[in-house]
Amino acid sequence: MSDIILFWHRRDLRLSDNVGLAAARDKTPKVAGVFCLDPNILNRDDVAPARLKYMAGCLQHLQQRYAEVGGKLLIVQGDPLQTIPALAAALSAKAVYWNLDIEPYSRERDKSVSEALRAKGIAAETFWDQLLHAPAEIRTGSGFPYTVYTPFWKNWIAKPKSQPAPELQHAESLTEKELQAALNAGAGELPWKDLGKIWENPLLLEPGESAAQEKLEEFCYRAIFDYQEQRNFPAAPGTSMLSAALKFGAIGIRTVWAAAKGALEQCRSDETLAGVQTWQQELAWREFYQHAMYHFPELASGSYREPFKNFPWDNKEDHFQAWCEGKTGYPMVDAAMRQLNETGWMHNRCRMIVASFLTKDLIINWQWGEKYFMQKLVDGDLAANNGGWQWSASSGMDPKPLRIFNPATQAQKFDPEGEYIRQWLPELGSLDAEALVTGKISAGEREGCGYPAPIVDHNQQQRRFKALYQQLKGGSI
Ligand SMILES: Cc1cc2nc3c(=O)[nH]c(=O)nc-3n(C[C@H](O)[C@H](O)[C@H](O)COP(=O)(O)OP(=O)(O)OC[C@H]3O[C@@H](n4cnc5c(N)ncnc54)[C@H](O)[C@@H]3O)c2cc1C
Repeated sequence: MSDIILFWHRRDLRLSDNVGLAAARDKTPKVAGVFCLDPNILNRDDVAPARLKYMAGCLQHLQQRYAEVGGKLLIVQGDPLQTIPALAAALSAKAVYWNLDIEPYSRERDKSVSEALRAKGIAAETFWDQLLHAPAEIRTGSGFPYTVYTPFWKNWIAKPKSQPAPELQHAESLTEKELQAALNAGAGELPWKDLGKIWENPLLLEPGESAAQEKLEEFCYRAIFDYQEQRNFPAAPGTSMLSAALKFGAIGIRTVWAAAKGALEQCRSDETLAGVQTWQQELAWREFYQHAMYHFPELASGSYREPFKNFPWDNKEDHFQAWCEGKTGYPMVDAAMRQLNETGWMHNRCRMIVASFLTKDLIINWQWGEKYFMQKLVDGDLAANNGGWQWSASSGMDPKPLRIFNPATQAQKFDPEGEYIRQWLPELGSLDAEALVTGKISAGEREGCGYPAPIVDHNQQQRRFKALYQQLKGGSI
């Protein structure tokens, strides 16, 4: 058996602040990276072209980073249950290390891969990396997982956080013989063309570790201090845009936390302090939803609240289609959906508005929206997306569930000049701000602009949803 440790990258496409990779490097300089293109994930029908392009870009960047430090990132294709043990055996690796994930599929897969490795006499070592606190660390006084965010946050913020893990700065290269053995075991180049679904549009965030680091520094230099106020305005560049980097681990969460703490120390007013703390709370929401998915994996397949499992959704196909295409006749909703379709990203405020509209106005099952988001989002993430959708649908863990967003009121508050709406609905560009935000556009004007009439009446539909909800609560549905 050689000295090699194989490090299996998954949602940690970086060399810096990577807990498992640093642990491998601690044991031996002969660390080789591997990434597996897993058909169980890539062949699913909710893979977004934008997400795939971002991931492929991160992998390409990671290959370069490995080359810079003298090492190698190997790419294998196929079920990890076979490919990872086969590659480890071909290299006579003494161990395979990786960072754990919270998703149900990943947990099952990892268990099987560990067993397959052990059957070949190869050790499997795992670490927590993508969270500041592993799921077992944050428990209620009676030892249960939290189902409500605020007490989770109080417990989470009070716990000391780790410093970034040391960066991999040097890896001993594989010998020619070892490289050949890896090739024989199926390792090859990144098959750009065969990754399928091509995304032609530019990505909003350049993929890879260096770009993510720059974005973090830029955000923590200025925008973080105004975050509490500016994060709500979709036309403003008020948020970090780091979600895809966090999803794929192009940046380490301890690095992100250290940057936020650095910003906190520079605060000289209540407003700037509130900005940084609000951003920290968003990072905690990310962890809250990941812990929830870990402890309650059944969230992935349906509503958390029992009565919602039988909710009498309308599920009208033509309404769903109009929502997907940004043709509901509600400018704020349509602008947001067009932003999603064209860029693979949508502002958080707009995610809440369109999710509320789908579930409370169109009375369509939130799971349809959840899947559509996954098919489009560059940052599509099971835990955050499911959490956001269940929160919006009132089917989740939220203790104050019945929120209904009025698209016009939301636009009046958060896009008062109609700047965002104008950007994504250029056909409405000639209308004044009042018409754009209230949606009060005459039939003639709509026809002139080629913009549809509202497909439902908001007031009527919200009354219907509330009535259905009350019946549900009373147990009569
Ligand atoms: C219906 C719905 C679906 C969503 N789907 C996703 C998804 O698939 N992937 C995803 O990363 N986020 C999702 N979110 C959360 C949020 O909209 C995005 O994280 C955020 O818009 C990303 O932009 P940003 O990086 O500029 O965020 P910032 O405002 O700068 O926040 C910093 C980071 O905190 C995390 N974060 C912020 N808000 C939330 C939140 N509400 N829940 C969980 N994490 C959060 C993200 O990692 C984000 O990058 C969803 C929200 C809703 C309402």
